[in-house]
Amino acid sequence: MEAPCPSARLTVDLDAVAANWRHFARRAPAGAAIKADGYGLGAAAIARRLAAEGCRDFFVATWAEAAALPAGIGVHVLHGVLPHEVAWAAASPHTPVLNSPDQVALWRAAAPGRPCDLMVDTGINRLGLAPADLPRGLSVDILMSHLACADTPQHPMNAVQRDAFAAIDIPARRRSLAASAGALIGPSYGFDLVRPGLALYGGTPIAAGPTFQPVVSIAARVLQIRRVAAGESCGYGATWTASRASSLAIVNLGYADGYLRGFSNRGHAVIGGVRCPAVGRISMDLAAFDITDAAPPGDWLDIGFVLPQAAAASGLSQYELLTTLGHRFDRRYAAVAEARAA
Ligand SMILES: *Cc1c(COP(=O)(O)O)cnc(C)c1O
Repeated sequence: MEAPCPSARLTVDLDAVAANWRHFARRAPAGAAIKADGYGLGAAAIARRLAAEGCRDFFVATWAEAAALPAGIGVHVLHGVLPHEVAWAAASPHTPVLNSPDQVALWRAAAPGRPCDLMVDTGINRLGLAPADLPRGLSVDILMSHLACADTPQHPMNAVQRDAFAAIDIPARRRSLAASAGALIGPSYGFDLVRPGLALYGGTPIAAGPTFQPVVSIAARVLQIRRVAAGESCGYGATWTASRASSLAIVNLGYADGYLRGFSNRGHAVIGGVRCPAVGRISMDLAAFDITDAAPPGDWLDIGFVLPQAAAASGLSQYELLTTLGHRFDRRYAAVAEARAA
């Protein structure tokens, strides 16, 4: 007897992640942002695959994320280090990105001589040391900064931040400024290391810029096919009314899986290349798609989840879409093309 398994499938194409990473690594030394569990897709599997490609610099947000990674993967911890975690950090193989004079003092005292990274704030005013507060006498691996407006290459703040960063004169093994979007603005943003995240996972960092191989596909089990007459509605709030006799596929997928209500009447599924619109409100565990114009579906329905289009349809950012994909899926690692054909 088979144990029950989830009726929604999330397929992550690690070959596509690797190909997207090579797009950056061919142009400049590249690390990888794998915070938030690899943008929701599984940091351990992604780190293992990219390490095999030659990636040596991984970025997470917190020590809890660092602790969850397989042994042998060394990471840079973007939030730096706080008093309650400094002992663990100092004994770990990982490197904190120090963001404030307090963090610098803490690291000096707890791990004298141990390498660290420094985040310098050049205008985003989020985390980071002011240029005037940059410490001397530490063993600095990466001196980094972060761009505020990189997804808009023409924004004047990009060059201002780049030039401010280039003017900083403290010893460091390497310098790093750019995430996915910054790395695509131009070679003068690359410095010694780029830190892509979104693009590795199939996102489009700059609307008019290059696109990357899709990494995520979602399939949901068809629970029922419903015929509705013209004039009947579907779902909570009766937000959709059939304009003709229609066939609806009711599938096991909802906002509890991260298929959020923004897709109500805006998302779509795909059957044999035919777009099947989401109809009615997305529920916690159920969604409905109008399959009237498509061939009858098999057991599984492929949910159209091409990131930039899904972002435009749902009103959510590509980052939010990835990181809210829930943990109720049967998560598999395979080629997206195979998953869509299955
Ligand atoms: C998240 C993050 C990145 C990666 O950003 P993407 O836009 O996903 O490429 C790089 N650097 C820092 C400091 C980050 O917080």
